[in-house]
Amino acid sequence: MTFTVAVDEERAIIPDQTAHQAVAEGAVHRRRYVTSLVRSRLHQRSFRERVLDAYQRQCSFCRLRHRELLDAAHIIADGEEAGQPVVNNGLSLCKMHHAVFDRQFAGVTPDFEIVVRQDLLQEEDGPMLRYGIQGLHGQRLLLPVKKKDWPDRERLQHRFAAFRGAG
Ligand SMILES: [Zn+2]
Repeated sequence: MTFTVAVDEERAIIPDQTAHQAVAEGAVHRRRYVTSLVRSRLHQRSFRERVLDAYQRQCSFCRLRHRELLDAAHIIADGEEAGQPVVNNGLSLCKMHHAVFDRQFAGVTPDFEIVVRQDLLQEEDGPMLRYGIQGLHGQRLLLPVKKKDWPDRERLQHRFAAFRGAG
């Protein structure tokens, strides 16, 4: 079974008319851009799938099991050195904890312990803060079944240093 994907208008595929050289060149650049965009989106989707599978579709912070609410978070951001979309650079996190991790409300030590930012531990508020954030402090990250899928300690170390710096 096969299928064909068109990523741009057809004229971009045959840029050989001299009269249309400029138009064609523009189209070629645009096609290259669209192609790389599509590639990166396909890439992202497979990163999410691979990370969620490794963690058996659970949030590694709170253990929530609803796939629709789960993301694959990067430990080292996409685009940075060591920011590749590999499982060891990922954490399966629910939407809330993805934001908590990205915004440095909590960090993860290289020994897989979740640390909540100090000022948040002093705050008083409703159940989301109390159970959803403060309750994570000192908890151990839920790890993938296979050790080869575990988050990379060097990447965690690098990210944790940034978390400490931000706090
Ligand atoms: Zn969660």
